[in-house]
Amino acid sequence: MTVLVTGAAGYIGSHAVLTLADAGREVVAIDDLSAGLRELIPAAVPFVQADIADRSRIGAVLKEHRVQAVLHFAGSISVAESVRDPLRYYQNNTAGSAALLASCVEAGVRSFVFSSTAAVYGAPKILPVPETATLAPINPYGASKAMTERTLADVGAAHGLNWAALRYFNVAGADPALRSGQAGGEVTHLIRRAVLAALGRAPFAIHGDDYPTPDGTCVRDYVHVTDLVAAHLTVLDALAAGQSGVVLNVGYGTGTSVRDVVRAVEGAAGTTLAAPVGPRRPGDPPILVADSKRLRRDFGWTPRFEDLDTIVASALAWERKRTG
Ligand code: UDP
Repeated sequence: MTVLVTGAAGYIGSHAVLTLADAGREVVAIDDLSAGLRELIPAAVPFVQADIADRSRIGAVLKEHRVQAVLHFAGSISVAESVRDPLRYYQNNTAGSAALLASCVEAGVRSFVFSSTAAVYGAPKILPVPETATLAPINPYGASKAMTERTLADVGAAHGLNWAALRYFNVAGADPALRSGQAGGEVTHLIRRAVLAALGRAPFAIHGDDYPTPDGTCVRDYVHVTDLVAAHLTVLDALAAGQSGVVLNVGYGTGTSVRDVVRAVEGAAGTTLAAPVGPRRPGDPPILVADSKRLRRDFGWTPRFEDLDTIVASALAWERKRTG
């Protein structure tokens, strides 16, 4: 069964390609290289540089490789950018995913796993947030992904495509063998920014400390990229076995504040981080923590890197390797 990975040269997509290849699965990688890096994909994996919205190119790839399953990671990922440039998000994430789905339906693809996000919940009232919570995104990024979830449900019902939407909480860390990690694109995510600051390579600030949280900074649920990718492989098998409409939170269920991350980075790097408090970043909910019981209980997900210090240490090791 050949698996197509979109966004394969990106952070999470490249880890998925590595894991599939490690497991001996047939995989074909696509990426438009607008943010991804070609070198993150192993040379032995077939790679096509293409836009997910390019119906004829994608149709040809699906046919040529007899693709039966798609892991769809391609998309724009910054909350702040989505507030500044919402049309980019509705174009790349929502319209792009609809075009990809049209190609998949036409080619008879059987299973489709979508990279969704905790941002679909907005600022949830129930914490940790279960999958049954109301979707109420508070930024265009979350809205663009929620629209695709709805599209998937409708397309799945109409065309018999087995689908899953995995709602990622905050993904961080690097491949334990340091073959991939966060690279390329604009550096916006907290752990990477703090690690780069600890290495003296970028300035850093805390985006607001007046939130209704224990230390005033935003609380997130950081999940190691390798554990996240493992969830995809489990779900792929479930879809191949006939399940559909699988919606799952992927997070550990542990709340970590921005200040907790700063401390962990200081500990890992053995340095003190200048962390001045700046203004809030538009679109940031105060707290996002996953209820991931469904993934653990029903899909047997057993994380291997469920620890902030482990995540931060791997992010730091990757950054040291990458930038010397
Ligand atoms: N953050 C911060 N300084 C930075 C980058 C991020 O204080 O340089 C905060 C951000 O405002 C949010 C949290 O860290 O409260 C996580 O942000 P990130 O961009 O990593 O992920 P998001 O939750 O937005 O997907």
